[in-house]
Amino acid sequence: MPQYVYQCCINPKCNATYDLSEILHRCPKCGSLLDADYEWDKLPVPQSLSHFEEYWNQRQIPQRFSGVWRFHELLPFAPFEQCVTIGEGQTILQQANGVASYTGLKSGSLYLQYEGMNPSGSFKDNGMSAGVTHGRLVGARQAACASTGNTSASLAIYCACTKLMNCVIFIGSGKIAYGKLSQALDYGAKTIQIEGDFDDAMARVQEVSKKLGIYLLNSVNPFRLEGQKTIMFRVLEALRWEVPDWIVVPGGNLGNSSSFGKAFIELHKLGLIKKIPRLAVINATGANTLYRLFEQEKLRWNNGNIDQLKVDSFFTQMDDEGRKASTIASAIEINRPVNLTKCLRALDFCNGVVRQVSEQEILDAKAKVGANGFGCEPASAASVAGTKKLVEEGVIGNDERVVCILTGYQLKDPNATVAYHGTDQTFFDSVLGKRGVQTADFANHPISVGNDLDAIIRLLK
Ligand SMILES: *Cc1c(COP(=O)(O)O)cnc(C)c1O
Ligand SMILES: [Zn+2]
Repeated sequence: MPQYVYQCCINPKCNATYDLSEILHRCPKCGSLLDADYEWDKLPVPQSLSHFEEYWNQRQIPQRFSGVWRFHELLPFAPFEQCVTIGEGQTILQQANGVASYTGLKSGSLYLQYEGMNPSGSFKDNGMSAGVTHGRLVGARQAACASTGNTSASLAIYCACTKLMNCVIFIGSGKIAYGKLSQALDYGAKTIQIEGDFDDAMARVQEVSKKLGIYLLNSVNPFRLEGQKTIMFRVLEALRWEVPDWIVVPGGNLGNSSSFGKAFIELHKLGLIKKIPRLAVINATGANTLYRLFEQEKLRWNNGNIDQLKVDSFFTQMDDEGRKASTIASAIEINRPVNLTKCLRALDFCNGVVRQVSEQEILDAKAKVGANGFGCEPASAASVAGTKKLVEEGVIGNDERVVCILTGYQLKDPNATVAYHGTDQTFFDSVLGKRGVQTADFANHPISVGNDLDAIIRLLK
């Protein structure tokens, strides 16, 4: 095991630390989430971020090719040679002026970070390479996760490629987009469909993992979040180490937003950045726990002294009213975000805001993203819809530099796309209409024509 690295309880009143070799989901003393933590002063930390450019010409080494492990010094919890990679993190930050004008930003101000270009088609691979690496360190033979789809696709591909562990995935029945389900099945994961939703699957997988000693790879796993920090490192790399004004990200289980916050806390502490970007986390209106708690109930990190009573009574009320998350953006269809407290820490450090966007806003934004680039799945488009909202409100200035994280690939959920652009009203109603989507203003409708050369030519003239 590497030295000067340990697991640390995020609750400042507890602050317990644990050895790297322990397999823990939460702090055994107080139940809080855990961080991977480092004694940075004893570790070789680069003097500046441009140090990482030295590795650009070492792409024949798999870990240097990886968009995660080429930043190894900033997540040094495993020996470099043992870091697991299948080529994750080869992603692009694209300036997207067509999307900028849709959101009300000036030309040149908006960037899209295409995390859909990862091997399994979502940002989850950044974290999975790190989580599987820790699993390997502790000798795990079997790994499990609960998932709305992308986590399971990601775990399944890592297990299939590396054969380090057998893979079991837990999903809520009927709650997963077919693109994602097809991946888990194709990659040979043992797939357990539970009657219920993501939150039910999440509760069960934690119990089962504990009972059977299976290594858990949900985002309660602190090492997954270490891998996801590198999304921010690559954004900075693409901007030649300049810090943007805003990072906008969809919020589901809040692993991504939490890891972005941790990345900036550490970069700042290490003197590698001076400026701290602001963070905007975007919920779907149908799955808006964070929005309600942060913007309406004013729940705050408060140096780690979180008002637990407020949180508990919120969830009690949610259960009493039978409120269940429901959104076309299935990747963020979550009632009880497991990383809530870490996300509050990120919002605190990055002077963050939270917004909610409707199904209509998500799908319109998704169409704009598709028409201007690589495309994305519905949950990802929440970041663009949220940016539009924040520019309208004047919270984001129209000349500020904004990076929207596009979390998942366009083909993950073809039903949503075809329903929006297609001409089949019944299909539209069954996929989108029932969710309150009324129009498809940015639809690119297919045109039907008889098998007749003249008729086709008339159409194209
Ligand atoms: C997992 C996922 C999210 C939600 O990310 P969290 O870290 O859980 O907040 C958003 N979009 C896509 C495509 C995802 O797969
Ligand atoms: Zn603790």
